[in-house]
Amino acid sequence: MQQSTESSDYALTRRVTVNGGILDFALGVLKILVGWIAHSQSLVADGIHSLSDLATDFMVLLAARHGSRAADDMHPYGHDRIETLASVVLATLLAIVAVGIAWSAVARLLSGEPLVVPGILALVVAAFSAILKEGIYHYTIRAARKLNSRLLTANAWHSRSDALSSLVVMAGVGGALLGIEWADAAAAIGVSAMILHVAWSIGHEGVSELIDTGLDEEQRVRIRDTVLGIDGVRDMHELRTRRMGAGVFADLHVHVPSAVSVSEGHRIGDEVYKRLTKRFDHLNDVVVHVDCEDDTEQRPSSNLPLRNEIESTVRQMVNEVYGSKNVFRRLTLHYLGGKIHFELWLTRADDARIDLDTGSDALRRRLERIANAGSVTLLAEI
Ligand SMILES: [Zn+2]
Ligand SMILES: [Zn+2]
Repeated sequence: MQQSTESSDYALTRRVTVNGGILDFALGVLKILVGWIAHSQSLVADGIHSLSDLATDFMVLLAARHGSRAADDMHPYGHDRIETLASVVLATLLAIVAVGIAWSAVARLLSGEPLVVPGILALVVAAFSAILKEGIYHYTIRAARKLNSRLLTANAWHSRSDALSSLVVMAGVGGALLGIEWADAAAAIGVSAMILHVAWSIGHEGVSELIDTGLDEEQRVRIRDTVLGIDGVRDMHELRTRRMGAGVFADLHVHVPSAVSVSEGHRIGDEVYKRLTKRFDHLNDVVVHVDCEDDTEQRPSSNLPLRNEIESTVRQMVNEVYGSKNVFRRLTLHYLGGKIHFELWLTRADDARIDLDTGSDALRRRLERIANAGSVTLLAEI
């Protein structure tokens, strides 16, 4: 992500959040005051709900500031999970508030004292709050879609559930005014259930990201289809994904033709990276592991000796057969199916007396005797 879009993303998140916060504060104070004056427990609950939103907004702001910072040495994957952690803390706070409200409403219903009927002003304020909150929902969701921000989306839906919460208060106060005495306290419990639901949905998503839950099946299939469509990719396996804030990190193995060079394999790997990050906007990074044979079941070649050990033996054999150290030109090794396959380049090196053909059978027999030797290909450099 570019620096400039990063800071404008943050600016938009902040503007939307600050505006929502100012309204939440005004609404919260208004509802608690009127709820208190007009004796409506559900309106007071709704007011507390609005003030708890203020804490929520503050956290969104804090998270947006830290989450949008670029990766650094200590946080090589970026700071997006600060946003995620904040959303989990926020969800926990909301759940506590919800349980508190429900608790006091139940206590009031069970107290046996006569229930006071709320005044009509409570109804008017609840209606006003419902309309305003629905407006804030539309305002926030527009910004959330633009930035693809999960936290802003959660906040927008929270605003809409606030509108619904105020509708429940209207029903409760209205019911009480019509003579159903317990309606207001019941509405308070209804409001708390809604706060609890919001807490669950924010917290659930945040926790699933923090424990590295992968992308769903459908998205994994789309990634797979893209990779398998790339020239040179025979197959792929071990796709692992995890979300980080609005982004996704992926790593996978691609199976390329067994005899391609390292640079061609790397080229194919780069193509996988390019196509995937181009097609999937929110893919921050893809780590591609290049396989030359299927290693899902077993890795037969992983215990074979490295070049150091083999090349000195091969050089010695060439020297023995042709009587010259200069005949050895280049050795390509292919580690496949638990065997080492040799591609050996020989040269006469300007020595007219050397006949590469004559010694080739003897050299081949020697090479085939090396432990784990597979096919032997001898090539002459002209
Ligand atoms: Zn590379
Ligand atoms: Zn593999």
